[in-house]
Amino acid sequence: MVLRSGQAKKPLNIAWRIVWRMVINRLNELRKLAAALEPPAGRRIEWLQKAGAHAERFLESLPEYDVYSAAGDREEALSAFAISEEPGSFDDALQLLDKYVDGVGHNLGSSRFFAYIPSGGLYESAIADYLAAVSNRYAGVGAAAPGATRMEASMLRWLAEVIGYPASAEGDLTSGGSMAALSAIVTAREAFGLRSADIPSSVVYLTAQTHHTFRKALHVAGLAECVIRKVSLDDAFRMDGTALRAQLQNDRQAGLKPWLIAASAGTTDTGAVDPLDEIADIADEFAVWLHVDAAYGGAFALCDEGRQRLKGIDRSDSLILDPHKGFFLPCGIGVVLVREGQKLYDAYHARGTYMQDVAGDTERSPCDYSAELTRPFRALRFWLPFKVHGSRAFSAALEEKLLLASYFHEECGKIPGIQPGPPPDLSIVTFRLCPDAQDGDAATRALLAAIHKDGRVYLTSTTIEGRFTIRMAILTYHTHIEDVDLALQVIEECATRMLGANNTRG
Ligand SMILES: *Cc1c(COP(=O)(O)O)cnc(C)c1O
Repeated sequence: MVLRSGQAKKPLNIAWRIVWRMVINRLNELRKLAAALEPPAGRRIEWLQKAGAHAERFLESLPEYDVYSAAGDREEALSAFAISEEPGSFDDALQLLDKYVDGVGHNLGSSRFFAYIPSGGLYESAIADYLAAVSNRYAGVGAAAPGATRMEASMLRWLAEVIGYPASAEGDLTSGGSMAALSAIVTAREAFGLRSADIPSSVVYLTAQTHHTFRKALHVAGLAECVIRKVSLDDAFRMDGTALRAQLQNDRQAGLKPWLIAASAGTTDTGAVDPLDEIADIADEFAVWLHVDAAYGGAFALCDEGRQRLKGIDRSDSLILDPHKGFFLPCGIGVVLVREGQKLYDAYHARGTYMQDVAGDTERSPCDYSAELTRPFRALRFWLPFKVHGSRAFSAALEEKLLLASYFHEECGKIPGIQPGPPPDLSIVTFRLCPDAQDGDAATRALLAAIHKDGRVYLTSTTIEGRFTIRMAILTYHTHIEDVDLALQVIEECATRMLGANNTRG
């Protein structure tokens, strides 16, 4: 619709009439310039088809992409991404995506990606993200988006049941594990009424294997000056319960206030699960908050075998779990669960006066359980794959990963020169190459370099108790035995070559 100056209320004088005409002209001009933001249905369908074709090409070529590809020139990419005032074509934009994004860096979607913690990238979640953004529900406030927020509540309730938490549990869908840990820490702080004066005498218990983002979250929450105790580890890099109890006793006798135990259900280095049941006994005995970092390992609670290995996780006060790891979702979703949900609410409930219209609303609002107000509709990307496939497909895939890890541990131990770490608690196996015991670090580092040079599979390393260690992390939904066999083959070929070279030199 184009406004004509005569349509407005009869202006009183000529000067006003002139100004008014100018305003109308400018409005029409601006509207024309911004019209591109309102594409007609035909254009939307055309773009969706093009985006779909692009996605298909990407998915089809995924197996051929290198597991890791170095990026080209940085300045070239930055200028290709640069925004101008003038419109560009949709096809050109997709081409830039293809050239500068899709094939560059870690190929998380590869079945031969065994580095860090693999992330799946289920296609159903991608469609869900699209639909969530199209419907653009305001998923922070229940009254604004009862459907979206009920779906979130339903997923949280389901997950709490999988973990074994009571019906009083509450939770939040975050952007990832780091933010979920921050949320749990703030909840524990508020539940214990810690104020700044209490910080120097409040004690946190963790291990050398606790994920670094937990320390970071303590720092962000203003709690870095708590007393931090690194509890010693057993042979399989799990928190030593006896040492924990002794430390708590000492601290209490010294007049300190034991506050928080951070246990791990699946460490990133080795996949070790701390003895959660024993730690829960100790937490009860000393009345401290038990937090479990199950960002990587929590998903395994979905299969029987995994549930046994996570025994005691249901006795924690809070936990975090990353669906973008063990539930194979694309990056961008973590969960915090708090056993006594009221404590999460107490830590986060807040209202602005401008929200008074929904003040009496009884619908559950995610913003009451989160540091966020406006937030994306994260539940849909979590719900759609489970709704479409059922949970059994997921539990089967997870049990498969546990079996594949045991298989890999067994088989890599047969490769001459390879020394595997402890049997896996979950789906990560560590190993070292020790041609001669003196320089195991250099040999292992050289082996990893050879594996990277080979490029058929991608593994990364860590340093455990000062020793350079290679990790094999098995977690994408489409990693199967042939991928693990390929990794074994590559490792064997590289190790044999190295040992052979060593022998000729010796
Ligand atoms: C990945 C991970 C985190 C951090 O989660 P993000 O989603 O990367 O923020 C924390 N703890 C463990 C054990 C993890 O594996």
